[in-house]
Amino acid sequence: MARYTGASCRMCRRENLKLFLKGDRCYSDKCAFERRAFPPGQHGQNRFRKSSDYAIQLREKQKVKQMYGMLEDQFKRYFQRADRAKGVTGENLLIMLERRLDNTLYRIGFASSRNQARQLVRHNHFLINGKKVNIPSFQVTPGDVISLKEKSRKNELIVDNLEGAVRRGVPSWLEIDQPKMQGTVKAMPNREEITMPIQEQLIVELYSK
Ligand code: SF4
Repeated sequence: MARYTGASCRMCRRENLKLFLKGDRCYSDKCAFERRAFPPGQHGQNRFRKSSDYAIQLREKQKVKQMYGMLEDQFKRYFQRADRAKGVTGENLLIMLERRLDNTLYRIGFASSRNQARQLVRHNHFLINGKKVNIPSFQVTPGDVISLKEKSRKNELIVDNLEGAVRRGVPSWLEIDQPKMQGTVKAMPNREEITMPIQEQLIVELYSK
């Protein structure tokens, strides 16, 4: 699957928000946003333009898209599915994004970023309910048990990630059993636990034009 391969830190600076795209680096003093919290580019520090409604909606969509590591076509398909589902479209969209396997692994602590989680999934490290799953967009459901393949239990990267996961905390819809290196999806994600500042209504307005 195609993905954005440009400079991640520029995206945070563009959105004026830490998007946590680079794992442990995001929590260190090497974070580019901490050092240069202004838009990238030659005139970044002088940008005080008044934004139109369209520009605000567009930036909100770009922000969420980048946060979950998606390209436009894929993100739009998520929106269309969210729009067809029962309930509030914006919330449906965020919940579908949260239920992606790569995001779930990141939230649980198996990976330090969604990008890293995506790579680990593709490299066949994980089992869902005992069966191999190597599709990052796989939607988890309550009751799913996520475990590691036997030979992946000694993977240093994953072991380190799990040890550092305490720092980020695990949302209540997920549970991690550290000794067993196993995660469980306890419930559907809920909107309140997506704590990043997202105004999903702006994305709905943008795509509804
Ligand atoms: Fe964003 Fe992380 Fe880069 Fe900081 S280190 S600017 S949070 S991607």
